[in-house]
Amino acid sequence: MTNMNSTKSGFDLRGTLECGWNLFFRKGYSNHPRDISVNQTHVDHLAESGLNRLVVFWTNARGFNDAWHEAVEYAHNVGLKLIRAMYGFSGGGSEYTMAEPDAPPHLLKRSAKGPDTALCPNDAETRAWMGRIVAERLAPGVDGIDIEPAREIGRNCICEHCRALRPFQWDALAVDILTERIKALKPDAEILLHLNMPPDKPGKLQMSRDLRCLPESIRHIFAWGADEETSLVDWLDADTRFEHFAKLGRVLLFPDGTTAAIPVHDRVARAFRWCRMAAQRGKTGYMFDYRIFGGREWQGHETDVPHTRHTGKRPASIALMGEATRRPCLDEDDRRELIARLKVECDWDLEDPARFYKSPAA
Ligand SMILES: [Zn+2]
Repeated sequence: MTNMNSTKSGFDLRGTLECGWNLFFRKGYSNHPRDISVNQTHVDHLAESGLNRLVVFWTNARGFNDAWHEAVEYAHNVGLKLIRAMYGFSGGGSEYTMAEPDAPPHLLKRSAKGPDTALCPNDAETRAWMGRIVAERLAPGVDGIDIEPAREIGRNCICEHCRALRPFQWDALAVDILTERIKALKPDAEILLHLNMPPDKPGKLQMSRDLRCLPESIRHIFAWGADEETSLVDWLDADTRFEHFAKLGRVLLFPDGTTAAIPVHDRVARAFRWCRMAAQRGKTGYMFDYRIFGGREWQGHETDVPHTRHTGKRPASIALMGEATRRPCLDEDDRRELIARLKVECDWDLEDPARFYKSPAA
């Protein structure tokens, strides 16, 4: 049975992040409105599991606007907040190339990736365009914006004005411009950051020092790169705003890629242990990376055509995210009981990567 103590250290922000093939049914990479519809079942599954935020990348092309309106209305009815993720001052193109869609060609600048791959935060017309884009992103009533500055993905402008800034000064400029605009449009919007953490401990501490000048309204800073425990602990200890972002698929559930060789109890225990490490450090947010999109995150299937995973029954993996973030201190007996219950009640995807990544019937 669940004891009282196990419930009190859950996270306020219990989130999951994806690339838009879970929240929306989509046909491959199409951005045409006729190929996009809301996957209400996924929203229900997240809410039923006690998750309270869904952060979604790669859905900012204008063809998604109507679907976003519908998704927000549906999610709010079941108590789930939706956050759109966007790249800050990346260049134009499809979002799955980590670009800013619909960017006017005449504003495009050079980055280290090549010509026309960046937008310049030092250019007044570009800042005005980004401001209008932020308004469009918030228009469906989303609860916040997750910003990934273009420098994190090597798509930052390298004009002489941008080159005059130290790397972090460039990030801060991009984030400050977007934050000011978001707050003016929607004062209660949540603003999250999505960054690329340095591999070493001194780098993480330096990052913390550099990020202190960012507005206090940014309460949660997420980053990729903490795929093993030493790096995770260094990251969590480096700054009170640094939160943990765990890859559920490739790191926690199927670390060996193609099989479930490690017993499910050990893999579930690890998911809980990572949440506990954050909870015990007073962290208030935790996010699981739940990028599925038709198996493309599955080792050996990276070039498959993406599709929306769809199951009638709630996936055990989603239930696990909810339990681990609500009750990170659940003890071993309770975890065994949980696993037994999920096997009966849920779509049992914790021991079969094909089921986890692709669903039983696409
Ligand atoms: Zn520039």
